[in-house]
Amino acid sequence: MLEVHDQGEVIAVRMARAVLGRPLYFCYAFLVNGLLIDTGLSHVCGAFQRFLRKYHVEQVVITHHHEDHSGNAWVANALGFLPYAHPRCVEILATGFPLQLYRHLIWGPVRPARCQPIPAKIQAGRYSFQVLHAPGHSEDMVVLLEQERGWLFSSDLFLSRRLLYLQPEEDIYQLMASLDHVLRYGFTTVFCSHRGRLDQGKEALQAKLDHLRELEAAVKDLRARGWDEEAITRRLLGREGWMTWLTGGHFSKRNLIRAFLRSTR
Ligand SMILES: [Zn+2]
Repeated sequence: MLEVHDQGEVIAVRMARAVLGRPLYFCYAFLVNGLLIDTGLSHVCGAFQRFLRKYHVEQVVITHHHEDHSGNAWVANALGFLPYAHPRCVEILATGFPLQLYRHLIWGPVRPARCQPIPAKIQAGRYSFQVLHAPGHSEDMVVLLEQERGWLFSSDLFLSRRLLYLQPEEDIYQLMASLDHVLRYGFTTVFCSHRGRLDQGKEALQAKLDHLRELEAAVKDLRARGWDEEAITRRLLGREGWMTWLTGGHFSKRNLIRAFLRSTR
């Protein structure tokens, strides 16, 4: 399913694979004055192609290579677009990348796509977007800041105030550094790729960083007292939940604790 929500200056495109009429997991792309930010999942490629034909799109940005952002980059290519992306993302999408089964089922396969390196600034009519590299969730992630309007298109930098699960490839310290860096800029509204528009977005991002700092301190305190990884996980985050089972352990609470213990600082 693909729904277009016209929110005035920003058009939100909400997409999900639906099974028996029920959406599995939503993701968003956003369209601002001809600038399309992300392309969603390939399971909705037909609807996405119709959307691209119907709406005024001039430029496309892929915020990082994950399949719920880049899934229809190949469709954009087929219609003559050469999306902007971080140089590392350009490399990854040139060949495509393997997916775990659950990702294949929820989002769909990733076809190779051609992209071009993203400049530091993107102009879309009267809107001026500053491109900020924000690694951690993935090494190639960028977020887009429109300072005049107070908007941050945060890709997967936010997701939730309290992170519970992590993938092994994610770097928690890089993620915290990216949050800290982005929070130095002036903005109020956050457009999250999975939560949509958050009017108190800056506060939400700050709450996420504060929570991660508290968690880091608690993990290190227990470690200093001789607790092992499993005991720390149980104490601070509880038992593994549905995400762990659904993803075959790719997302887990244990990964989050382990990421803090991998400390290099
Ligand atoms: Zn992602």
